[in-house]
Amino acid sequence: MTERSPALVAVVLGAAACSAAVGAAAENRPGKARAGEGRTAERRVADTVRTLPTKKKLVALTFDAGSDRGYTKRILRVLRREKVKASFGLTGRWVGENRKLTRRIANRGHTIINHTYSHSSWTGRSAGGGLTNAERRRELKRTDRLVRKVAGVRTKPWFRPPQGDYDAAALRLLANRGYDYNVLWSTDSLGWAGLSASAIVERCLGQLRRGAIYLLHVGGQSQDGPALERLVNGLKRRGWGFATVREQLR
Ligand SMILES: [Zn+2]
Repeated sequence: MTERSPALVAVVLGAAACSAAVGAAAENRPGKARAGEGRTAERRVADTVRTLPTKKKLVALTFDAGSDRGYTKRILRVLRREKVKASFGLTGRWVGENRKLTRRIANRGHTIINHTYSHSSWTGRSAGGGLTNAERRRELKRTDRLVRKVAGVRTKPWFRPPQGDYDAAALRLLANRGYDYNVLWSTDSLGWAGLSASAIVERCLGQLRRGAIYLLHVGGQSQDGPALERLVNGLKRRGWGFATVREQLR
Protein backbone atom coordinates (compact mmCIF):
# COMPACT_ATOMS: atom_id res chain seq x y z
CA MET A 1 0.00 0.00 0.00
CA THR A 2 1.21 3.46 -0.81
CA GLU A 3 -0.32 6.52 0.72
CA ARG A 4 -3.22 6.41 -1.67
CA SER A 5 -4.96 3.22 -2.70
CA PRO A 6 -5.69 2.72 -6.42
CA ALA A 7 -9.42 2.94 -5.83
CA LEU A 8 -8.85 6.41 -4.50
CA VAL A 9 -6.62 7.56 -7.31
CA ALA A 10 -9.37 9.00 -9.50
CA VAL A 11 -10.92 10.76 -6.56
CA VAL A 12 -7.57 12.02 -5.31
CA LEU A 13 -6.54 13.25 -8.75
CA GLY A 14 -9.59 15.47 -8.76
CA ALA A 15 -8.98 16.50 -5.20
CA ALA A 16 -5.31 17.26 -5.87
CA ALA A 17 -6.21 19.64 -8.66
CA CYS A 18 -8.80 21.18 -6.39
CA SER A 19 -6.45 21.57 -3.45
CA ALA A 20 -3.80 23.08 -5.72
CA ALA A 21 -6.30 25.73 -6.78
CA VAL A 22 -7.30 26.45 -3.22
CA GLY A 23 -3.65 26.49 -2.19
CA ALA A 24 -2.92 29.08 -4.83
CA ALA A 25 -5.84 31.14 -3.60
CA ALA A 26 -4.59 30.87 -0.03
CA GLU A 27 -1.22 32.15 -1.17
CA ASN A 28 -2.79 35.30 -2.54
CA ARG A 29 -4.56 36.18 0.66
CA PRO A 30 -3.30 39.18 2.59
CA GLY A 31 -1.48 36.90 5.04
CA LYS A 32 0.93 35.89 2.30
CA ALA A 33 1.95 39.47 1.67
CA ARG A 34 3.25 39.59 5.23
CA ALA A 35 5.34 36.47 4.76
CA GLY A 36 8.30 38.46 3.42
CA GLU A 37 8.61 40.64 6.47
CA GLY A 38 7.91 37.50 8.48
CA ARG A 39 11.49 36.42 7.80
CA THR A 40 12.29 38.31 10.97
CA ALA A 41 11.10 37.24 14.41
CA GLU A 42 7.74 38.79 13.50
CA ARG A 43 6.85 36.01 11.06
CA ARG A 44 3.11 35.50 11.07
CA VAL A 45 2.53 32.82 8.46
CA ALA A 46 4.62 30.02 7.02
CA ASP A 47 5.89 30.55 3.48
CA THR A 48 4.33 28.21 0.97
CA VAL A 49 7.17 27.04 -1.25
CA ARG A 50 6.83 25.38 -4.65
CA THR A 51 10.34 26.02 -5.96
CA LEU A 52 13.63 26.61 -4.16
CA PRO A 53 14.97 30.15 -4.25
CA THR A 54 18.04 29.49 -6.39
CA LYS A 55 19.37 30.86 -9.64
CA LYS A 56 21.59 27.82 -10.09
CA LYS A 57 20.79 24.71 -12.08
CA LEU A 58 19.61 22.84 -9.00
CA VAL A 59 16.55 20.73 -8.27
CA ALA A 60 15.29 19.08 -5.10
CA LEU A 61 14.17 15.48 -4.97
CA THR A 62 11.57 15.04 -2.22
CA PHE A 63 10.21 11.65 -1.22
CA ASP A 64 7.08 11.28 0.86
CA ALA A 65 6.60 8.25 3.09
CA GLY A 66 3.25 7.66 4.63
CA SER A 67 2.51 3.95 4.63
CA ASP A 68 4.79 1.11 3.47
CA ARG A 69 8.57 1.28 3.25
CA GLY A 70 8.34 0.22 -0.40
CA TYR A 71 11.50 1.22 -2.26
CA THR A 72 13.14 3.18 0.57
CA LYS A 73 16.24 0.97 0.74
CA ARG A 74 16.70 1.02 -3.01
CA ILE A 75 16.22 4.80 -3.10
CA LEU A 76 18.84 5.29 -0.37
CA ARG A 77 21.24 3.01 -2.23
CA VAL A 78 20.87 4.96 -5.47
CA LEU A 79 21.24 8.30 -3.69
CA ARG A 80 24.43 7.14 -1.98
CA ARG A 81 25.93 5.72 -5.15
CA GLU A 82 25.11 8.86 -7.10
CA LYS A 83 26.21 11.14 -4.24
CA VAL A 84 22.86 12.93 -4.19
CA LYS A 85 21.22 14.42 -1.11
CA ALA A 86 17.43 14.46 -1.00
CA SER A 87 14.58 15.41 1.34
CA PHE A 88 12.09 13.00 2.90
CA GLY A 89 8.61 13.90 4.12
CA LEU A 90 8.04 11.35 6.91
CA THR A 91 4.90 10.73 8.93
CA GLY A 92 5.38 9.93 12.60
CA ARG A 93 3.62 6.64 12.07
CA TRP A 94 6.10 5.66 9.35
CA VAL A 95 9.02 6.70 11.54
CA GLY A 96 7.70 4.55 14.38
CA GLU A 97 7.48 1.54 12.10
CA ASN A 98 10.78 2.17 10.31
CA ARG A 99 13.23 3.38 12.92
CA LYS A 100 16.34 1.96 11.26
CA LEU A 101 15.48 3.48 7.91
CA THR A 102 14.71 6.82 9.53
CA ARG A 103 18.14 6.80 11.18
CA ARG A 104 19.75 5.89 7.89
CA ILE A 105 17.99 8.78 6.14
CA ALA A 106 19.23 11.24 8.76
CA ASN A 107 22.74 9.77 9.06
CA ARG A 108 23.33 10.08 5.34
CA GLY A 109 22.62 13.79 5.41
CA HIS A 110 19.18 13.82 3.86
CA THR A 111 16.66 16.30 5.19
CA ILE A 112 13.60 15.09 7.10
CA ILE A 113 10.39 17.08 6.65
CA ASN A 114 7.46 16.82 9.08
CA HIS A 115 4.64 15.14 7.13
CA THR A 116 2.31 14.90 10.20
CA TYR A 117 1.77 11.84 12.34
CA SER A 118 -1.24 10.12 10.81
CA HIS A 119 -1.29 11.58 7.29
CA SER A 120 -4.83 12.90 7.76
CA SER A 121 -5.83 15.79 5.54
CA TRP A 122 -5.73 18.95 7.67
CA THR A 123 -8.58 20.59 5.84
CA GLY A 124 -10.56 17.48 4.93
CA ARG A 125 -10.45 18.60 1.31
CA SER A 126 -9.08 15.27 0.07
CA ALA A 127 -10.39 12.90 2.74
CA GLY A 128 -11.97 12.86 6.16
CA GLY A 129 -13.39 15.81 7.99
CA GLY A 130 -10.23 17.80 8.59
CA LEU A 131 -8.41 18.46 11.86
CA THR A 132 -8.85 21.06 14.57
CA ASN A 133 -6.01 23.38 15.51
CA ALA A 134 -5.28 21.30 18.60
CA GLU A 135 -5.15 18.10 16.57
CA ARG A 136 -2.87 19.70 13.99
CA ARG A 137 -0.54 20.86 16.75
CA ARG A 138 -0.42 17.36 18.24
CA GLU A 139 0.35 15.83 14.86
CA LEU A 140 3.32 18.16 14.42
CA LYS A 141 4.68 17.71 17.90
CA ARG A 142 4.34 13.95 18.07
CA THR A 143 6.18 13.51 14.79
CA ASP A 144 8.97 15.96 15.61
CA ARG A 145 9.53 14.31 19.00
CA LEU A 146 9.67 10.86 17.48
CA VAL A 147 12.10 11.88 14.73
CA ARG A 148 14.29 13.52 17.37
CA LYS A 149 14.21 10.42 19.55
CA VAL A 150 14.82 7.97 16.72
CA ALA A 151 17.26 9.89 14.52
CA GLY A 152 18.49 12.78 16.63
CA VAL A 153 17.40 15.50 14.21
CA ARG A 154 14.60 18.05 14.16
CA THR A 155 11.98 18.37 11.46
CA LYS A 156 11.65 22.13 11.95
CA PRO A 157 11.35 24.39 10.04
CA TRP A 158 9.96 22.23 7.24
CA PHE A 159 6.43 20.93 6.85
CA ARG A 160 4.72 19.07 4.04
CA PRO A 161 0.94 18.87 4.17
CA PRO A 162 -0.72 15.48 3.48
CA GLN A 163 -2.37 15.64 0.02
CA GLY A 164 -1.09 19.22 -0.24
CA ASP A 165 -4.10 20.34 1.83
CA TYR A 166 -3.67 23.48 3.92
CA ASP A 167 -5.50 26.67 4.76
CA ALA A 168 -4.77 30.09 6.24
CA ALA A 169 -5.10 28.77 9.81
CA ALA A 170 -2.52 26.08 9.03
CA LEU A 171 -0.01 28.65 7.81
CA ARG A 172 -0.45 30.67 11.01
CA LEU A 173 -0.15 27.58 13.22
CA LEU A 174 2.92 26.35 11.36
CA ALA A 175 4.75 29.66 11.76
CA ASN A 176 3.73 29.75 15.39
CA ARG A 177 5.20 26.28 16.01
CA GLY A 178 8.49 27.00 14.25
CA TYR A 179 7.63 25.59 10.84
CA ASP A 180 8.53 28.49 8.58
CA TYR A 181 8.11 26.56 5.35
CA ASN A 182 5.07 24.81 3.97
CA VAL A 183 6.95 22.78 1.37
CA LEU A 184 4.88 21.88 -1.68
CA TRP A 185 6.29 21.00 -5.11
CA SER A 186 6.59 22.26 -8.66
CA THR A 187 6.33 18.82 -10.27
CA ASP A 188 4.33 15.83 -9.10
CA SER A 189 5.84 12.73 -10.72
CA LEU A 190 2.37 11.12 -10.65
CA GLY A 191 4.10 7.84 -9.79
CA TRP A 192 1.40 7.36 -7.16
CA ALA A 193 -1.22 7.61 -9.90
CA GLY A 194 0.30 4.65 -11.74
CA LEU A 195 2.76 6.19 -14.21
CA SER A 196 5.48 3.80 -15.43
CA ALA A 197 9.12 4.43 -14.52
CA SER A 198 9.89 5.72 -18.03
CA ALA A 199 6.88 8.03 -17.98
CA ILE A 200 7.99 9.39 -14.59
CA VAL A 201 11.49 10.13 -15.89
CA GLU A 202 10.13 11.77 -19.02
CA ARG A 203 7.63 13.86 -17.07
CA CYS A 204 10.20 15.07 -14.54
CA LEU A 205 12.84 15.91 -17.16
CA GLY A 206 10.17 17.66 -19.20
CA GLN A 207 9.36 20.01 -16.32
CA LEU A 208 12.91 21.03 -15.46
CA ARG A 209 13.35 24.49 -14.01
CA ARG A 210 15.70 26.20 -11.60
CA GLY A 211 14.82 25.26 -8.06
CA ALA A 212 12.25 22.65 -9.15
CA ILE A 213 10.89 20.57 -6.29
CA TYR A 214 9.94 17.07 -7.41
CA LEU A 215 7.28 15.20 -5.48
CA LEU A 216 8.12 11.49 -5.35
CA HIS A 217 7.06 8.67 -3.03
CA VAL A 218 8.94 5.79 -1.41
CA GLY A 219 5.86 3.50 -1.41
CA GLY A 220 5.87 0.25 -3.37
CA GLN A 221 2.81 1.14 -5.37
CA SER A 222 4.62 3.98 -7.09
CA GLN A 223 7.40 3.45 -9.63
CA ASP A 224 9.30 6.51 -8.38
CA GLY A 225 11.90 4.24 -6.72
CA PRO A 226 12.63 2.24 -9.86
CA ALA A 227 12.70 5.48 -11.90
CA LEU A 228 15.19 7.23 -9.63
CA GLU A 229 18.48 6.08 -11.15
CA ARG A 230 17.43 7.08 -14.66
CA LEU A 231 16.04 10.37 -13.41
CA VAL A 232 19.25 11.25 -11.56
CA ASN A 233 21.40 10.31 -14.55
CA GLY A 234 19.17 12.27 -16.91
CA LEU A 235 19.46 15.34 -14.73
CA LYS A 236 23.24 14.99 -14.39
CA ARG A 237 23.68 14.55 -18.14
CA ARG A 238 21.82 17.82 -18.68
CA GLY A 239 24.14 19.57 -16.24
CA TRP A 240 21.80 19.80 -13.27
CA GLY A 241 22.72 19.37 -9.61
CA PHE A 242 20.77 18.59 -6.45
CA ALA A 243 19.80 20.59 -3.41
CA THR A 244 17.94 19.74 -0.21
CA VAL A 245 15.40 21.96 1.47
CA ARG A 246 17.86 22.29 4.37
CA GLU A 247 20.43 23.94 2.12
CA GLN A 248 17.96 26.31 0.50
CA LEU A 249 15.27 27.05 3.09
CA ARG A 250 16.56 28.09 6.48
ZN1 LIG B 1 1.98 12.06 1.81
